[in-house]
Amino acid sequence: MKLILLGPPGAGKGTQARRLEEQFGLRQLSTGDMLRAAVAAGTDLGLRAKDIMARGDLVPDELVVSLLLERIKAPDCAKGFVLDGFPRTVAQAEALDRALQAQGVKIDRIVALKVDEKALFDRIDGRARDALAAGQPLRPDDNPETLKQRIRVYNEQTAPILPYYEKAGRLQWIDGMAAIDEVYRQLTQALGKS
Ligand code: ADP
Repeated sequence: MKLILLGPPGAGKGTQARRLEEQFGLRQLSTGDMLRAAVAAGTDLGLRAKDIMARGDLVPDELVVSLLLERIKAPDCAKGFVLDGFPRTVAQAEALDRALQAQGVKIDRIVALKVDEKALFDRIDGRARDALAAGQPLRPDDNPETLKQRIRVYNEQTAPILPYYEKAGRLQWIDGMAAIDEVYRQLTQALGKS
């Protein structure tokens, strides 16, 4: 099963993707996590991405596309994967389609989480507070100002991929406002796994 999980920042993509990984062994592929690892390791990519991410803007398509396409080829992705945070622009979606077609690989499901904008602020706020309480480092982009920018970027640059997939009849919506277990139930149902 190869799945794309779509939704704005704070929609719960990471939480749901981790559960699918635990239960079904579908590899969670989060470009955000990969980029944060590159920043922490101080690689060339990390150095280029660091300030862009801290501002809440998007890392250039060509960098993210090659990062993701390389990762997808690894043996641990053969059983299936969940794309979490990719694609984030129509150009990324097109590049993914082209690359997978060339490899003869098919995406089985594309699921979008629908969430009210107001809830996103509360959730990211909660995530920042939980991290503080647990003594974990705060993500530099988990603050109200940068979140506003991330949501603006989502609406302007990422939301256009919804009609891109919808037109092709490939998109399924689920209610991301429900409790985590209920979202997961709807998600596994959409995947035909429950
Ligand atoms: P969230 O979904 O909570 O916004 P992510 O961890 O997915 O967080 O992404 C964090 C940041 O990493 C983004 O704001 C962006 O700067 C960068 N990033 C992640 N994925 C992509 C992508 N596919 N294209 C461009 N930039 C990305």
